[in-house]
Amino acid sequence: MRATVMYEAGDVRIENVPDATIIEPTDAVVRVTRACICGSDLWPYKTMEPSDNGRVMGHEAIGVVEAVGADVRNIKRGDLVVMPFAFSDGTCVFCHERLQTSCVHGGFFGTVDVPGAQAEAVRVPQADGTLVVLPVGEDDALMPSLLTLSDVMGTGHHAAVSANVGPGEIAAVVGDGAVGLCGVIAAKRLGAKQIILLGRHPDRIALAREFGATDVVSKRGEEAVERVRELTDGYGVHAVLECVGLEQSELTAIEIARPGGAVGRVGVPQDETMPASQPAFYNNISVSGGPAPVRAYIEELLPDILEGRIEPGRVFDRVIGLNDVPDGYRAMNDREAIKVMVTP
Ligand SMILES: [Zn+2]
Repeated sequence: MRATVMYEAGDVRIENVPDATIIEPTDAVVRVTRACICGSDLWPYKTMEPSDNGRVMGHEAIGVVEAVGADVRNIKRGDLVVMPFAFSDGTCVFCHERLQTSCVHGGFFGTVDVPGAQAEAVRVPQADGTLVVLPVGEDDALMPSLLTLSDVMGTGHHAAVSANVGPGEIAAVVGDGAVGLCGVIAAKRLGAKQIILLGRHPDRIALAREFGATDVVSKRGEEAVERVRELTDGYGVHAVLECVGLEQSELTAIEIARPGGAVGRVGVPQDETMPASQPAFYNNISVSGGPAPVRAYIEELLPDILEGRIEPGRVFDRVIGLNDVPDGYRAMNDREAIKVMVTP
């Protein structure tokens, strides 16, 4: 089968790789009908050390189940399923606590050990715990929005939940990538009355406003902090969704939170240490978040997509075939595209 293999920074190829097959009795094999490129795929695209075997990329997909292992009970051949970016057994202590990204039998797609979904097919470990059957046809018009349940909508929602967004509150979203845009949707969905987007790209800002952003701050650093204070009677915001992961964005997130506020982090931190420890301490700011347990959120978000209350699929502004995936990486890295959907 054909798949996307990354060999080192900037080197993405479409190659023939061994077919996805059942290895463990808890596996399923899914024929991928929709996949996408993630902002987090751009980190290895920028920094990956050369590798002889490469890494089959991709952790977001919808597809049709082609085969299941002997121990799979809830998923059957022919089901249309959405695949969260992490697999999980659904039965361990952390899965019961709805933190499937810490599943004791879990892991992540698109790693050295588990080939990813920017491919014609993907092996899904722990199929019963991981996959969610979708009640639509494989070419349903809602497919782009349903695909965001794999990652970006669930991740934006996790940022909002971790930041304790509540009705009538003021939220800020740091970052205007696909996750930040979904964070705007999530903050609005949870009842925020004012949503300030910190972002700089006109196309993304326009979409954020349609999703519910009430204010936009395009400055950076201290100027951004000043502007957010001006917009909030000098106090700062209740809830900050940090959707970037760079030192500057983490610092800004803590500095724009009001005393007693919270920062929900979903941008993968690029540094070991967290900035602004003292301001966070003196202002009693909670800092929470991490890899989003998107599996926990699918049941909650799915009806809003099926019934048209949210349209996170609008973050996709380019659709390509598998052969064009290397150019899709380039386009996202060059900020030509917000998020690229792949139809293998
Ligand atoms: Zn588990």
